[in-house]
Order: sequence, then C-alpha cells, then structure tokens
Amino acid sequence: MPQPRRNPCELEIDLFCNGARIDPSATLDEDARHVARTRAGLGSGLEIVIPGPLKEIWMNVPVEEDFARTSPYVIAKDARGYHVRDERAGRRYLIRIPEEPAWYDRLTARGVPMGKVGVLQGTYLGIYIANSCLFWYSTPPMNCRFCTTGANVGVNEVARKDVDDVVEVARAAKEESGVTFVHLNSGHQAGRDLALAAPYVRALKEQVGTLVGVQMMPSKDLSEYDRLIDLGADHFSFCYEFQNPEYFERYLPGKHRWFGQQVFFDALEYVSKRLGKGAVSGEIIAGVEPVEDTIRAIDYITSVGAFPTVCVFRPVVDADMEPHPPPRYEEMVAVFAHVYEACRKNAIPIGAAPNIEVSLIVQPDDTRYLATPGPATWGYEAYLRLARAAARPLFAKKMRPTAARAGGPGPRPIGGLGIAPPAAPPVMTAPVASDPSATDRELETRTAYATVRFVAESAPGAFTVEEQGAALEIAPSDPLAAAPSRCRIKIFRPRENKDRLCAFFYKRSNLSWSRDRFSYGAVEFHPERLSAEVVEGWLSWLRDGFDPDRRPAHLKRAFLYTIPD
Ligand code: SF4
Repeated sequence: MPQPRRNPCELEIDLFCNGARIDPSATLDEDARHVARTRAGLGSGLEIVIPGPLKEIWMNVPVEEDFARTSPYVIAKDARGYHVRDERAGRRYLIRIPEEPAWYDRLTARGVPMGKVGVLQGTYLGIYIANSCLFWYSTPPMNCRFCTTGANVGVNEVARKDVDDVVEVARAAKEESGVTFVHLNSGHQAGRDLALAAPYVRALKEQVGTLVGVQMMPSKDLSEYDRLIDLGADHFSFCYEFQNPEYFERYLPGKHRWFGQQVFFDALEYVSKRLGKGAVSGEIIAGVEPVEDTIRAIDYITSVGAFPTVCVFRPVVDADMEPHPPPRYEEMVAVFAHVYEACRKNAIPIGAAPNIEVSLIVQPDDTRYLATPGPATWGYEAYLRLARAAARPLFAKKMRPTAARAGGPGPRPIGGLGIAPPAAPPVMTAPVASDPSATDRELETRTAYATVRFVAESAPGAFTVEEQGAALEIAPSDPLAAAPSRCRIKIFRPRENKDRLCAFFYKRSNLSWSRDRFSYGAVEFHPERLSAEVVEGWLSWLRDGFDPDRRPAHLKRAFLYTIPD
C-alpha cells in the first residue's frame, strides 16, 4: 500500500525518529541557523519550520547522528525553496529554514559572542546558566546517560553566563527576533540550583520584560519556588524523564541517587498548584521506556494540571546512550495522540502563551493535528481559542519590564538596537604587566608550545601546527587520505593568572555549516613538566582518530572553563 501523506505533526514525529540527510542543493551555510550543540546536546540538528493549516511547527531535525545517514528523508532546495523529500513514497513537503539571527555573532559589552551565551531553539531563547553539571564530576560519573552537557558547556558555549550578558542577549533576542520567552536551565548544582537562577529571573523581569521559565533540579524546600515566583518566574519544568522507576534509576543515576522520583513529583505538584493550570510542565523522554510507562507519565502530568513536554529520544553523538536505537514512528504517533487526549480530558490550556515554539520537542499544541474529529475535540478547540484570547492581556502585562513599570531607569538603547552601554570595561585577556609572574608564565607557555611544535615537526608533513591568538592548534595532515581528518588538539591557558595549560582534544563537525565541536576530553598540565614523550602520545592519539581504548592518562571529560574558538 502506498504510504499516505503525513500531516505536519506526523512529519515532525517521523523526522524526529529518522532524522534527515542533506542534499547538495541545500545551501545551509548561507540560509540556516548553525548547529549549536548546547545544553543537554539536543540542539544538534537543523532548525526547520513545517507550515500547516492549524499552526506551523518548529522542529530541530537530527542530521549529525549516525541514524540520520540512512533516513528516507532528504532536505533539498529548488526554485520554490526548501522541501523535505520522502524517498519511500516520492512525496515532497515544503518547509522553511529560519535564518540565523544577526545578533548571534555580535559581542556583549563584556566581549562575549552573544550566540555563545544563549541560542534560539525554535522561537524561544535557551540559556544554560551554570557552568556544567556536577553529575559529570563524580567518580564514577553520574550524568544522565542521554546527555552531553559535560562535553558541550565551555566547548560550544561559554562556561559561565554573566547576568549582564544574559540581559543583553535577551534584549537583542526580544527586539530583533521577537522572542517572548527565555528558558533558564542548568544541571545539578548541589542544592544551590534555584538560588542560582534568582538573579537571572530578577534581571530579565526588571530589565527586559519576557516570560521566564526555570528548569533546575527540584528542591525539597518548596519555599524556594515561592521566592522565584515572587521575582516573576512564569514557568517551571521538571525533567524526570522516565515514569518507570527502573529506567529512572538505570539511565539517570545522579537524579536517582540525589533526589529520587518523588522529589520531582512533590515539586511539580506544588508549583502547578501555585501557578495554575498549564503553567508548569513535566518533561519526559519517549522511546526508551515501554510506551505504557510513557502513557502513564502523560496521564500523571496532566492530572496535576501540568502539560507534558515529551522529547523523542535522540541518540546524540558522544552520549553514553549513542548506541541505543531511536524510537519507532508508529509508537511515537500513539504517544503524541495520547498527549492531545490527556490535555483535552484535563482541560490544559495548551498553546495559550504567545509565540512560544519549542523545536526540540513535539509541543502539546502540535498534537492538535493528531486529534480525532468529533464533538469532544471541537469543544476543546473552542476552549483553547477562548483561553488564548483571555490570556492575551495577562501576557502583555508580564512582558513589560518591571523596572520600567515601576518608573525605574529601564534599558538605555544605543543606536536603536537596544543594546545597553558597557557597564564595565571588557574582560582583560592579556597578562597584567604588573604581575611579576605573568612573564614567567608567558615564557613557560612559549617553551611548552615549542616542545609541541618540535615533536609535531619531527615527523615531516604529518601535522600542521598553527597559532590561533594565544592558543596552539595541531591537525593531522595526510594528502593521500580520502577525506581530511576532523581531529584537532588545541593547547591554551584556561584560567588567567594560573600556571596550568590545557590540551583539548576534539573533532570538527562533518557538516560544513555546523560550528559544533565534539569533545574527546582535555588534559591539564604544568607547562614546565611537559615532556616530548607525553606530546608524542597525544599526537599519536590525534593521528589515529582518538581511539577510545588509547586515551591519554588524566583525560577529563568535562571542564569548568571556556575553550577558545
Ligand atoms: S542533570 Fe542530567 S540532563 Fe541535566 S545536565 Fe546533568 S547530566 Fe545532563
């Protein structure tokens, strides 16, 4: 039987399950947002928009993962624009490629590229506020097995997000990209989680005027939520991922050991009661635990007045779960049809907030395309229209900066771009001349770089060595290889005024328009102790493509600093 044409939500689900290949006709270098594998790593795809009669759907299509290479879907471009071609059925679906915001490449007043502070994921601004997640620093690591935050924060985004930078980026995103919602998240911060979010929530509400969502580890002290709500937080999401306790324990060892499911449930229920229906979400992953458990999760979340944010499992490159297969389309369609039904039965006002399209999940209001026609659906759709209209003035009020409302100074735009003037001089990047040890450090760095150069150039033509600002980058060079190697070593000083250097091992993306760096870890070392033998070991690992069985000694997977470009 020929495969029927997919509606926009079915196409979205199928693309999440299969990914897509990129046809050479697609000029994504010029047209697309670059791939930004930030936060948990799920932003590793191509942002597209699927038009449709009920609503347009924003999604992030997997393109870098292995499973996407055998996808029946191909993204191509012709005179009519971009389309997705289904090679099984010879069908074409028109799509739109959202362009990269101009502000991504601008610098904040502190000199940080704005695209490394926050990224658009759909139409909202996502900011990972804290530097990495402490689950990655346990021995053995207790990171969630699907996640790559430890390998991304500091590598594909800056490690520490300054409040002023966040305000500047949010203001640019609001004024130039129409962003209405800023989502703040972080990994485990050992109990300081919600307190860490507070200054960002306050600054965004006072100075920018956006809806603000918070996604942090749950707190047993429920009064912490009251404090954030008093500061203006509009939304909270609770990522407990799996309803089945065995899957929760197996794939989320840190969350299991430090919190347990019940702490997530208690916080979710408390905040949902405080903020009202549809303001809180329970975030789960579909496609790993049995479907019946995912259905139970959806029923539970909606029964307490929250909405389910269901992520189709993506075996992200470099995640512990990379070998786990992606889910089956038919099962996922059943899951998302149930999302609609559960929201309808519990009268959750999905899609009421203005212009919030989340590309990494199938949004509850995307599932309207999966609804069974009939009086129950028509009644719910009428309720949703009313809810949207009734909520409009409330959201308009919430999106005015509170400092301006209270007669405070508010933002002082420059040149019509709304960029605040520099509050402080740019961060110093050169050694301070009056520091007597700065010269010694510079000398030791130069000596270490000379050692690396000497060893690399002892094998003529095997490596290229390039100075990039204050960093040294080494790449293998083999003119006879079928494709150039993507492996690199970058050596630099990670912390000003500290002696140690860092050798960072990474691969460039295989997509020309991606700025992703795939981290293989880093070694910190004292430059004066660097020996030719150690460098030989690194270079041999580089030449052999970072064989996991031959990792250098003392290799760290996650770091608390920013790796320079
Ligand atoms: S809590 Fe889990 S998903 Fe979140 S950053 Fe840490 S390891 Fe990743």
